[in-house]
Amino acid sequence: MIKETIHRLKSELPATIKLVAVSKFHPFEAIEEAYEAGQRCFGESRPQELLAKVRELEKIRAERGEPDYMSDVEWHFIGHLQTNKLKMVLPYVDMVQSVDSVRLLEAIDAWGCNNNKVTDILIECHISSDESKQGFSRDELLDLLASGKSYPNVRVRGVMGMASLTEDEAVVRDDFQRLLDLHDMVADWIGESHLLPPYAGDECGCGEISMGMSGDYPMAVSMGATIIRIGSIIFGERSY
Ligand SMILES: *Cc1c(COP(=O)(O)O)cnc(C)c1O
Repeated sequence: MIKETIHRLKSELPATIKLVAVSKFHPFEAIEEAYEAGQRCFGESRPQELLAKVRELEKIRAERGEPDYMSDVEWHFIGHLQTNKLKMVLPYVDMVQSVDSVRLLEAIDAWGCNNNKVTDILIECHISSDESKQGFSRDELLDLLASGKSYPNVRVRGVMGMASLTEDEAVVRDDFQRLLDLHDMVADWIGESHLLPPYAGDECGCGEISMGMSGDYPMAVSMGATIIRIGSIIFGERSY
């Protein structure tokens, strides 16, 4: 099932869209199955779980004597990240999509300074009408830009957002449009980050727009998403 779905999504989606397979709450075997179908990028939302999966992969490599097994797998962190958990996450991930506060941004920058790693991040924006959702509001983002502070160990690659959980397509469309507008607001910042080497992908430096999940990705794609994050369609429902 996992394989068929990966193949179907890949054939459906424009080649320029990056598919993040959200594997949270699913076992490592599910990730392996998706990997065998050609999927390389996986999203995790809890530090402990990400670390457990990274360790499991290391164990498999050691047991089989295959140090290169799944060496091109890419991890994206997509959940709320507490500043005291950075060391469980930052050494292993290719991107943190969920930078939802200045405090976290500063902590990641400081960690990078101490550990000699520039971390690719997306600014998570609060675009939904749901109270509980994390992320920068428009005003917080304006404050951040106005502060003029620089974060040399962080590369701002774009924005991420989650639309309201509703069947109402008009509401979801408005949410996504808000993210597109915020993306325009940070475009210069992304452009400056773009100049930092090394930079993989995104040749134009226009920046990533991560929006769209299992329930709303077709609309996100039609509106210009460059990254979509899909869990339950690929791996099945999660049992929390
Ligand atoms: C869980 C999660 C997803 C995937 O959700 P599905 O509805 O299962 O596709 C995407 N983005 C974030 C930030 C998530 O936490």
